[in-house]
Amino acid sequence: MNEKRDIRALSKEELRTFFKNKGDQAFRGNQVYEWLWQKGVHSFEAMTSLPKATREMLEAEFVINHIKVDVMQRSDDGTIKNAVRLHDGLLVESVLIPTDTRTTACVSSQVGCSLNCSFCATARLKRMRNLLADEIYDQVRVIDEQSRAFFGRPLTNIVFMGMGEPLMNYNNVLKAIDKITSADGLGMSPKRITVSTSGVPKLIKKMADDQVKFKLAVSLHSAIKSVRTSIMPFNEQFPLEELREALQYWYQKTRNRITYEYVVWKGINDQRKDVEALIKFCKFAPSKVNLIEYNPIDDGDFQQVAPEALQLYQQLLEEAGITVTVRHSRGKDIDAACGQLANKGQNK
Ligand code: SAH
Repeated sequence: MNEKRDIRALSKEELRTFFKNKGDQAFRGNQVYEWLWQKGVHSFEAMTSLPKATREMLEAEFVINHIKVDVMQRSDDGTIKNAVRLHDGLLVESVLIPTDTRTTACVSSQVGCSLNCSFCATARLKRMRNLLADEIYDQVRVIDEQSRAFFGRPLTNIVFMGMGEPLMNYNNVLKAIDKITSADGLGMSPKRITVSTSGVPKLIKKMADDQVKFKLAVSLHSAIKSVRTSIMPFNEQFPLEELREALQYWYQKTRNRITYEYVVWKGINDQRKDVEALIKFCKFAPSKVNLIEYNPIDDGDFQQVAPEALQLYQQLLEEAGITVTVRHSRGKDIDAACGQLANKGQNK
């Protein structure tokens, strides 16, 4: 069978060359690029500035792979969750989170996840594949359109906190961010983008060397080795000391504050010694600790700590000069909150 190529895998330069090689004019490449990436069309027929014969020629050679929103759910609090169908039939989820002043897109980087955090619903789906750069870009684009349609304003922020571990799909995530931030794409500032990682030391250093401009968040949850390994087993492979060293390197190179995501669970990490270990771990650089509310995932092992215990964390961290925020999850009624993305009820 003659497999058609995905035209979206071609850069602008490659498109220009394609047309030149066909004996056509190179600027047709720019036109196609614009239709694909700025206007976001899903068919060659829709590229109306091209002659009909050119559109038919493209149709014969290429496909335009694109994502499709299968199901869109709206939460009582305004949060929107999309079940996104990929060209090969697999599903991922992405979420739009509105507040008074912003709209944030929470996007996925992998189908499933290769890490095995015991408190996260996504970990129960094995990692099926990495998303392509344009599949990541498309999630952002769709949410930008939803933001305009439902809230009358464009998307303001992006967090890579959906399904998957973004650093395990390093190249495609960076390519997608390039497109999101370039004038040819959505032209968003990288300062409005946060990549969240469970902490792969080698790749954190690579990001620092690559001089990336987006923000970094680390899902820490414990700064005590035995505790972290018990809830995030890959901690055995990427030890805390190496993570800390990589983060130190990141800070030296970028001078960017590091955000830590942290859930406090009853009986797991709710003691004074847990807070003290956290303070010791992050005090080498300006840090912010984001205390995230636990979202139950049909599992009796984990329970959100009582508000008083959370206050101890808050107080001790603040005394140590660390910024603290408490994040209440949104979209819980539609399983759209942190750690709840698991294609619930939609796996075929
Ligand atoms: N793999 C990346 C991206 C996922 S981000 C990372 O680990 O950072 C999703 C965030 O939600 C992470 O901070 C994760 O630790 C947190 N999380 C996972 N399950 C959760 C749950 N049940 N309740 C609250 N937060 C959870």
